[in-house]
Amino acid sequence: MQDRPQAKLFVEGRYKKLSRDLPQTVFFCPECKGHPRRRKNCTKCEGFGKLSRESVQELIGWVLGKACGTRKHKFHGAGREDVDVRMLGRGRPFIMELVGPRILDANLAEIEAQINDRNAGRLEVEGLHWTEKERVRVIKETPNAKAYRAGLSIEGEPDLGKLEGLIGTRITLAQKTPERVAHRRADLTRERWIELRDLRAVEGEEGPWQVDLVTQHGTYVKEFISGEGGKTDPSLGDLLGGVACACLWLDVLEILDEEGALMRLPKPRPSAAGFGTGL
Ligand SMILES: [Zn+2]
Repeated sequence: MQDRPQAKLFVEGRYKKLSRDLPQTVFFCPECKGHPRRRKNCTKCEGFGKLSRESVQELIGWVLGKACGTRKHKFHGAGREDVDVRMLGRGRPFIMELVGPRILDANLAEIEAQINDRNAGRLEVEGLHWTEKERVRVIKETPNAKAYRAGLSIEGEPDLGKLEGLIGTRITLAQKTPERVAHRRADLTRERWIELRDLRAVEGEEGPWQVDLVTQHGTYVKEFISGEGGKTDPSLGDLLGGVACACLWLDVLEILDEEGALMRLPKPRPSAAGFGTGL
């Protein structure tokens, strides 16, 4: 007998991540890969199978999956941020693919409220609506510029006069593949643009300096800030007159369109229950 392909549901929305310790997807243990049998004797994760207790995917998937009668889900994000980076603004577009759902008419407004209730101060979702499989490719392949805010320490005296002339202009960087991703990315030099929007001294824990900037799709922003020993040219420190900058924390303020303008949000269609059910 041939296996029938499983039915799938696709739910699209945006998430905001307000915490600095939440990965986007399930963070499986690199030793045992979360394998049900191998993980039992795994010393790396002590049998847990994962290296973080939860993720954006799981916090959404537990509620959404329960309501749709399945525990199997795949998470498709419009890019991702590092674990320690917050995702603010209007949030990051994502699609949750529910595999083998038994309930096709779940109430997405209720699910959204429940996710936000359970994860207050940590994760928020917005605009949940049924969508179709084709959207997965669209959100994964659409290039997005991003607006960031970073907390900085600066060693030396930044040349703020020089900075004045650079605010709002598009600056081209030559960026080599950073060390931290060298194992999974080709070692190339890429050209990327960035725009500095603001730099200011601030008081307290959020300081001593903050920079706002917009970067082209695929820019490594932490490496632009540090320069990573010349691998990004120019670095933020170069632009500030040859000082050394270190990134203390990073927030994504907004996911933008390819050119750096605010995106139009997809209008949720008033959809019949289970719209998007497909194979
Ligand atoms: Zn393990």
